[in-house]
Amino acid sequence: MTKLDWEEEDKLIREQFSKLMEACPRCQTPENTKLVTKAFELAHEAHKGMRRKSGEPYILHPIEVARIAAEEIGLGTKGVIAALLHDVVEDTDYTVEDLQNIFGEKIASIVAGLTKLEGVFDQSTSIQAENFRKLLLTMVEDVRVILIKLADRLHNMRTLNSMPEHKRLKIAGETLYFYAPLAHRLGLYAIKSELEDLSLKYELPQVFNNLSQKVKDSEEQHVEFINHFKEPIEKRLLAEGYEFDVVGRHKSIYSIWSKMQKKDLPFEEVYDVLAIRVVFTPKSHLPEKTQCWAIYSMITDIYKPKPDRLRDWVSTPKANGYEALHSTVMGPDGKWVEIQIRTKRMDEIAERGFAAHWKYKGQKEKESELDKWLEMIKELLDNPDADSLEFLDDFKLNLFASEIMIFTPKGEVRVLPKGATALDFAFDIHTDIGYKCIGAKVNFKLVPLSHQLKSGDQVEIITSEKQQPKYDWLNFVTTAKAKTRIKNAFKEERKSIIEKGEQILEDALHKKKLTINSRILKKILDFHKLQKRDELYFKIGKGTLKLDNLHKILSTKSTNKWIRYWKLNFGMSTNKQDTDQAEPPQKKKQVVLSDNEEQDQFTISECCNPIPGDDILAFQDDNDKIILHSRKCPIALKLMSSQGNRIVSAQWESHKILSYLALINLSGIDKMGIVSQITKVISEDQNVNMRSINIESHDGIFEGSIYLYIHNTEDLNNLILTIMKIKGVHNVTRQDRIKADL
Ligand code: MN
Repeated sequence: MTKLDWEEEDKLIREQFSKLMEACPRCQTPENTKLVTKAFELAHEAHKGMRRKSGEPYILHPIEVARIAAEEIGLGTKGVIAALLHDVVEDTDYTVEDLQNIFGEKIASIVAGLTKLEGVFDQSTSIQAENFRKLLLTMVEDVRVILIKLADRLHNMRTLNSMPEHKRLKIAGETLYFYAPLAHRLGLYAIKSELEDLSLKYELPQVFNNLSQKVKDSEEQHVEFINHFKEPIEKRLLAEGYEFDVVGRHKSIYSIWSKMQKKDLPFEEVYDVLAIRVVFTPKSHLPEKTQCWAIYSMITDIYKPKPDRLRDWVSTPKANGYEALHSTVMGPDGKWVEIQIRTKRMDEIAERGFAAHWKYKGQKEKESELDKWLEMIKELLDNPDADSLEFLDDFKLNLFASEIMIFTPKGEVRVLPKGATALDFAFDIHTDIGYKCIGAKVNFKLVPLSHQLKSGDQVEIITSEKQQPKYDWLNFVTTAKAKTRIKNAFKEERKSIIEKGEQILEDALHKKKLTINSRILKKILDFHKLQKRDELYFKIGKGTLKLDNLHKILSTKSTNKWIRYWKLNFGMSTNKQDTDQAEPPQKKKQVVLSDNEEQDQFTISECCNPIPGDDILAFQDDNDKIILHSRKCPIALKLMSSQGNRIVSAQWESHKILSYLALINLSGIDKMGIVSQITKVISEDQNVNMRSINIESHDGIFEGSIYLYIHNTEDLNNLILTIMKIKGVHNVTRQDRIKADL
C-alpha cells in the first residue's frame, strides 16, 4: 500500500469512529468521550496490521460492533468500551489484567466473558458447547456480555460472505440454534429476525432467494390492501384525538419459511395472512391498558374479530417483557388480518428489548420477569459437572417454548413453557417440592404428576415425605430446571449403573475375543436406535437391555439400507488463514460428491435423506467418514452448533446414474381412476421408479404418499409439477423426513 492508501484508510477508520460517537448519546460527556477514545486508540493500536477476511482493516469490526451495541441495542459508555475491546484479549498480546489496570474491573470482566475458551478439550466435549456455557455464565453476572456478543454475531453475520463455505455453515448454524433464540428471549426482536434471515440466506440460499422474490412480487398488492384496510381505522382514531401510526407489519423471510415448514402450508397461505400494527401515544390521564382496550373496541366496531384469536399481553406481559394486545379481524374481501395494538413504549420494548427497558426504568416490576429468567439460568448453571451438550439442549428447550400462565393456590402467576406438566410446576416452585411431589390438584381436580397444564390453570401441588424422585419422571418434564434437578438426584446412582453396564458389555465381548471399539459400539447403538454410549451402558447396567443377540448385531453389515456411496475428489485445501484453534488441522474442508462411481466413503443420513440438488451439509465423523444431511435437518442444525469444526463443505455432481429415495405426499378430490392416472404419470416418466404407494380416501377426499427413486431435485420438482396438472390433485409436496423404519 502506498502512503496515500494508508492515509485514506486512516481517514475511513476515524470517520467510522466518529459515527460511533454520534450513535451513543451517553458517551458524549467530556469524561466519557475521553474514555471511549482511549479504548478506541488502544484497540486500533493492538489490531494494527490485522485484516478481516474481506481485506478491510480489523479495527473496523470492533467499531461496528460498538456502534450496533449503542445504536441497535442501546448500551451506554461501558458497553461501548467493552465492545471496542472485545477481540483485544483473544487476538492480541493484551491480557485481561492489562485492561483491568487501564479501564477498571467491570470492563475487564466483560471482555474476559467475551473471550473464547482456550486449551485442550478431550474428544467428547464440544468446545462450542463449552463456550456457550461460559457465555451464559458470564451473562448472568452481567447481561452486557451477551448483548455485546449478539452485536458481534450480528456484524459477523452481516459480513459472512467473505468466509469460506464450511465456516459460513458453522456460523450460520450456531446463530440459528443458539443466538437467534437468545436474542428472542432477551426481547431483541429486530436483531432476532435479522439473525434468522441471514442464517437462512447462507444455509438454504435457494429457499431464501426464492421466498425473497415471491415477497417482492406480491409487495405492491399488499400495500394497496393495507391502505384500503386501515383507512376507516385511521379516521376513527383521529376523531378520538389519538396520536398514532398504523403500519403494515413486515414478516421476515425466516418466519414465513418456518411457518410453511411447521404447518406444511404453501407460501401464499402463510404470506396472505396480513398483519398490521397500531402504535399510539397514550393520553396522559388514562392508564395504557385502558387505552389499548379502547382502541381494540374501536377497531372491532369496524371489523368483526375472530372469537378465539384474542391475545392479551397487556394485562400479563410475556416473560421477555413483551406487551401488546393481539387480535385477528375479518377485513374487506374476506381476508383475515392480524392486529397488534401497542403504545409507543411497548413498541420500543418489543423491538429493542433491553435498551428500552433501561430507558423506561421507572417501571420496576416489568423487569422482574427477566430477572426471574436470569435467575433460572443461574440455577441451571449451578451444576458444575453437567454435560455441556446436554445442558445446551435443555437450555434450548426453554428458549423456544411458548408460554402458559399458571396460578398458585394463592393466585400468584408463574410463567411456564407450553407443554409443562404438574411436576414441572412443582419444580418451578421449589426443588424439594418437586422431589416430594406425588400429585396435584388442577382447578380443584386431582391429577397425576404427568398431567399437562393449560394456560390459566390453578394448581396446588400435593407432596409426601415418603416420595422419592424417580428416573422415569424425565419422560414427562419439559422445563430445563426440572430435568436438571431430576438428573442431579440420579447422577451418582446413574454413574455406577453406567460403569456396571460398560463392564457387562466388555465381559460379553471378551468372550468373543473382542474389545469395545467405536465400530462395534456404533453397530450396537444403531441397532438399538440410541445416540449416546452412556445411554447404552445405562440400559445394559439397569438390565433393561439384554445382550442376547450380540452375535447377530455384530454380524450385520449395516442397518442402513439406503446407503449410497460416492467418489471423493479433493477440493481446495484447508485455508491457512483460519485461526480457529478448535479445529484439528488434518480434517478435510471441502469435497465434491459425484455419483458416477461407488465407494464406501460417504453415507446419506437417513433422518433427512437428501438427494442431489438439495442444500447439503457434510459432516466428518470419528472414522473420517462423511455423512450427508439436508441443511434443513434439525439434527444437522445441532451438529453445526456443537461440532462445527467437523463440517466439510460439499457439492453434488449428479450424473443421473444412481437414484435416491424420496417421499412425496399428495391430496385432492377423489374421483374414479385418479390413482391409476397418478401412477401412470409417474411410471411413464422414464427416470422414476416407485418403491411404494399408499393412498387412502374418505368422504370424497384422497390423501396419500409415494416413495420414489429419483436422480435429483430437478427431476423431482418436474415430476411434482406434472402430477399437480392432473385434474383433481390439489396438493403435492415433498416430505423431507423419511421414517427410519422403512
Ligand atoms: Mn468479534
